Amino acid sequence: MSPSKAVSKGCTDENKANNNVNHNADTNGMDEFGLIKHFFDINKTSDPAQSGVSLGIGDDAAELAFGNSRLVVATDTLNCGIHFPEDALPEQIATRAVAVNISDFAAMAARPRWATLSLTIPEVNKRWLDAFSSTLFSSLKDAGVVLVGGDTTKGSLAVSLTIMGEPFTGRLLRRDAASSEDDIWLSGYTGLGAAGLAYLQGKVESGLSYSEVCLLQSRFYQPESRLRLSQLLAAYANAAIDISDGLLADAGHIAQNSGCQIRLANECIPVHPVMGKVFSNEVDQQRAILAGGDDYELLFTAAVEHRDAIQRISEQLKIPLCRIGSVEKTDSRKTGVLLLDRKNQIVELNTKGYKHF
Ligand code: ADP
Ligand code: MG
Repeated sequence: MSPSKAVSKGCTDENKANNNVNHNADTNGMDEFGLIKHFFDINKTSDPAQSGVSLGIGDDAAELAFGNSRLVVATDTLNCGIHFPEDALPEQIATRAVAVNISDFAAMAARPRWATLSLTIPEVNKRWLDAFSSTLFSSLKDAGVVLVGGDTTKGSLAVSLTIMGEPFTGRLLRRDAASSEDDIWLSGYTGLGAAGLAYLQGKVESGLSYSEVCLLQSRFYQPESRLRLSQLLAAYANAAIDISDGLLADAGHIAQNSGCQIRLANECIPVHPVMGKVFSNEVDQQRAILAGGDDYELLFTAAVEHRDAIQRISEQLKIPLCRIGSVEKTDSRKTGVLLLDRKNQIVELNTKGYKHF
């Protein structure tokens, strides 16, 4: 949209206030998910059965059916100062933008193929654009994605990618497909995204080796792709999500959408050795592991009979896959996540996932 259109069409003082000010009288306490449900849920505007939407709002990506084809679509936006520090390099912003978007495809077991880029920049800086665009193209190429369009505007720096693609197999891994008595599995480690951010924000005292610093930086700016993993898991897993909001919050999304209770065994949740060096006290470390977010690992459920097959995938790809809990059938009042200690006692926590609002 051109700026003149926005200005000329009824830009009253009231509109200006609505557009710029935190105007939350009616939405007090509404989080991101409440907000989406209240204002943008497709069920309000159209009949999903007629619209060709086989999977709509609420999962890591949507699935659209037309003819004999199925298109998978996901969007993620990175805002400067919120989703990356203001001093991030253009190369780092590009790799992070691609990685977080590709992660939603891994969470669905879908092959990303095409992208559009919506880029908002404060000024035209050739050096910045050269570095950003060349890294963006190489990251997209590594993921098998071609850039096919976008939009470029002036404003505070923000990068938004929309990725389109297709399911790896006949079946997507949805958040609502966990079965009772499934195991719940985690790839890699959680907490490293939060540890990386703490390092970048200068909150970590010295004592890290060079390779640990590299690990933390790359975990934040270039989390490893789990696409190949999800392609192999598609034959075995039932439900999956990527850990962008935090382990407990994302487990909660599977539990809510599948109408089940997820029981996590605290001692089975892996702790990366660097965590003890980044966080000097155990509470902060636990918070990062359970609620830090930004890890882009996969949390998935699978039937008990697939344990050996999943273990073989772990060995083949050299990606740790840990069984960290189980899925239980429950009545709607008990839907959610329980974290249990060795004695099967509930661990009380006040750590929720990342909240956008
Ligand atoms: P993720 O963390 O996997 O990227 P989000 O938490 O951002 O997912 O979003 C949750 C769900 O809500 C997704 O299905 C997403 O497509 C949808 N969603 C988010 N914002 C909007 C919006 N403004 N309008 C419609 N759908 C939205
Ligand atoms: Mg996601």
